[in-house]
Amino acid sequence: MIKIPKICKAAVLEEYGKPLQIREVPIPEVEAGGILVKVELAGICGTDVHQQRGDLTIKSPLPNIPGHETIGRIVKIGDGRTKDVSGEAIKIGDRIMWAHADCGECYWCEVARDPVLCAKRSGYGFGPPAALRGGFAEYEYVTPATKVVRVPDELTEEEAIGVGCAFRSVVAGYERFGGIGFQDNVVIQGAGPVGLYSLLMAVEGGAGKTIMVGAPKQRLELAVKWGADHVIDIDEYKSPAERSDKICNLTDGRGPEVIIECSGVPAAFNEGLGMIQKGGRYLIMGQSSPAEVSIVPSILTSKCLTVVGNASAAIPHFYKALQFIKNKRTKYPFADIISNKYPLEQINEALANMEAGKEIKPVIDNRGR
Ligand SMILES: [Zn+2]
Ligand SMILES: [Zn+2]
Repeated sequence: MIKIPKICKAAVLEEYGKPLQIREVPIPEVEAGGILVKVELAGICGTDVHQQRGDLTIKSPLPNIPGHETIGRIVKIGDGRTKDVSGEAIKIGDRIMWAHADCGECYWCEVARDPVLCAKRSGYGFGPPAALRGGFAEYEYVTPATKVVRVPDELTEEEAIGVGCAFRSVVAGYERFGGIGFQDNVVIQGAGPVGLYSLLMAVEGGAGKTIMVGAPKQRLELAVKWGADHVIDIDEYKSPAERSDKICNLTDGRGPEVIIECSGVPAAFNEGLGMIQKGGRYLIMGQSSPAEVSIVPSILTSKCLTVVGNASAAIPHFYKALQFIKNKRTKYPFADIISNKYPLEQINEALANMEAGKEIKPVIDNRGR
């Protein structure tokens, strides 16, 4: 029998633009169907930096516990919850990951069958401390309405953690996009975790040349390990024109058939529209800022382009991303996505390093506490 404390430590955002505070918060009672987990690893995301600054499009009420990419080890399960989303049994001691809770009864859930668009999605990493629904804590509470997936036993937490946000979103984006064509040349804009997992899916999806555009060197080195045929360092190729020329030369003068935008930089959209091949297809996954850029819409018609956007994911995408890692783990060093591990008490240092561009995927490591 695992002894569960009444309180635990959590990093709480109390004021926008200020450091998170380590506080003691109560651990909620586990309802029927609910799950209490001990947080093992919690990924830190660019979104957490924006959340701390208070410049997300949707502001979360204060105070809250951030952290939405968690691997948790089950310490208590409420009555009635016996399986994960694939039908596999779950029990105390198993590791799980989980999606935002969708309502299952709105138009988007029931008619459109696209729970990513659920009108009443209830997220993790944005809730009040009493709900204990953020990863930057010692424990986290998974509600009865939340679907979970069991992390396969053979995977280390380091290999699996990227599924918590970037990889599941990439799987969802690829599904919405309809995948890539055999031997399509693919340019990936942005070498962060979303770009790196997009690269993997292009390589495994039958791409011709894969060309990663981004920085810094550390990320581009991982891109090469993960199968990029070419990397273009934006610190060396500083202007869009230099990058487009280089890519045009690499793609027989026609430009790429597919571009995957994972940079989050609004101007990247115009750069992509300029270089993409006629008849090309453009998947947009990095954009989250309300900033505006002007475009010439007739480029879409004159080049006969297909543009698809995607944000976030649902539980099937978590499951498939974990299966991918399980099936390919001898081929790719998945754990290399982790650039640094920090104890919970150093959350502010981790966020600062993330903001300064010194990280690929930093994590809060609670194992052994
Ligand atoms: Zn994230
Ligand atoms: Zn819904």
